[in-house]
Amino acid sequence: MKLKRIKICVIGTGYVGLVVGTCLAEIGHQVICFDNNKEKIKKLQNNIMPIYEPGLDKLVIKNKQAGRLSFFTEIKQGVENSDVIFVAVHTPTQKSGETDLSYVESVSKEIAKTMNSYKVIVSKSTMPVETGKKIKEIIKAYSSQNVDFDVVSNPEFLKEGTAVKDFLYPERIVIGLESSKAEKIMRQIYCPIKAPIIVTNIETAEMIKHASNAFLATKISFINAIANICERVGADVEEIAQAMGLDQRIGRSFLKAGIGFGGSCLSKDVDAFVHIFAKNGYNFKLLKTIRQINQVQKENFVKKVKDKLQNLKGKNLAILGLAFKPNTDDMRNAPSIDIINMLIKQGAIIKAYDPIAKESAKQVFKHKITYCSNIYETVQNADALIILTEWDEFKDMDLKKIKKLLKSSKIIDGRNIFNPKKMRKLGFNYSCIGRN
Ligand code: NAD
Repeated sequence: MKLKRIKICVIGTGYVGLVVGTCLAEIGHQVICFDNNKEKIKKLQNNIMPIYEPGLDKLVIKNKQAGRLSFFTEIKQGVENSDVIFVAVHTPTQKSGETDLSYVESVSKEIAKTMNSYKVIVSKSTMPVETGKKIKEIIKAYSSQNVDFDVVSNPEFLKEGTAVKDFLYPERIVIGLESSKAEKIMRQIYCPIKAPIIVTNIETAEMIKHASNAFLATKISFINAIANICERVGADVEEIAQAMGLDQRIGRSFLKAGIGFGGSCLSKDVDAFVHIFAKNGYNFKLLKTIRQINQVQKENFVKKVKDKLQNLKGKNLAILGLAFKPNTDDMRNAPSIDIINMLIKQGAIIKAYDPIAKESAKQVFKHKITYCSNIYETVQNADALIILTEWDEFKDMDLKKIKKLLKSSKIIDGRNIFNPKKMRKLGFNYSCIGRN
């Protein structure tokens, strides 16, 4: 299929919207990105990235210069000048576990009011099953001009840290829709991307995203549970994961023991899925347990630190890594938040370093911790070194220098970045997850 340039508006220019909009421009479409956060748009208009995502800055600038990508704070401009509207606003969960759809609803109303011709409205945000129906009802109810439209669910599977690559070279593209007109347009949009396209009804596409994230969370909690036993019986969780992963029915990815999953998606999507099941009369006990294992994993890690130091009161702890995973500045639901708060509650004094997430971490921890600008400044005179994110920079640190700087030789590694035997040979009192 030959590329037909489609005029696209992306509403919500966050971690997903900015990557999606930029990459759609990169593959040849005409893209307008809109966000109601004026500061964010102003930064993008001035070529300043509001988030850290490797490779994204270059693509934004390149596509702006090519005239394919622009940023606006007026939704009217975006909707009127586009044929397809991608909705990528956030969909947080409320305390009850129910998804807060207020951002989606308010955007749907705004689209309805400004729609002046046939539009395809695409849900990029992760939305509970049956949200497509709701969007359709809202748009029908609020549409001021009687124009035709289609609603499509096109869940996003990108991972922060590798988002550009994930979008441009995806493993699959899922499109849920109910008209052949919308299908033709969606296929035109994605025609430069080589990946299997799975076309389903809207509800199935919505469920695919939920089921995928729930399964990924399950893999993480499963291996974390295994890790807890390994430590007691003298087995090695890394070797177990490697051997299990060679079985194609299982696969290696996400079988990584650590301090539990975090980030803006897995926790919230598991909560939302549990809620959806309950609403539909099914008690999905497995998912509730997955969530519980994840919480206990963080508590067990704090206990491990405490056991190592006997007492946390007044102890100086050097924390390496704050972001929920490497190569991002995203602190949403990062395991570091619960862990550091628990350590502080027990009297520990925290110095921390993260290569990228310092500014976002400041909004979370405020003055509760000291922010350092490199590994060695963090570690100096600390009673123990604690690793919470597996940044490459930490894997390459000068361990001899670390040994000299630390007050004791204690390292508690929540991400298994070193080999325990080698660390002991180097004279460290080293503990990690699921390995002895
Ligand atoms: P985000 O908070 O980074 O971005 C959301 C953006 O929407 C913000 O910039 C916000 O200002 C904007 N917004 C909110 N209301 C608006 C309105 N009325 N008009 C215009 N803009 C508005 O969130 P995110 O991480 O990009 O996630 C967006 C969605 O994508 C969520 O549903 C999430 O679950 C899903 N998702 C996220 C990821 C990920 O890795 N972050 C991956 C796949 C799917």
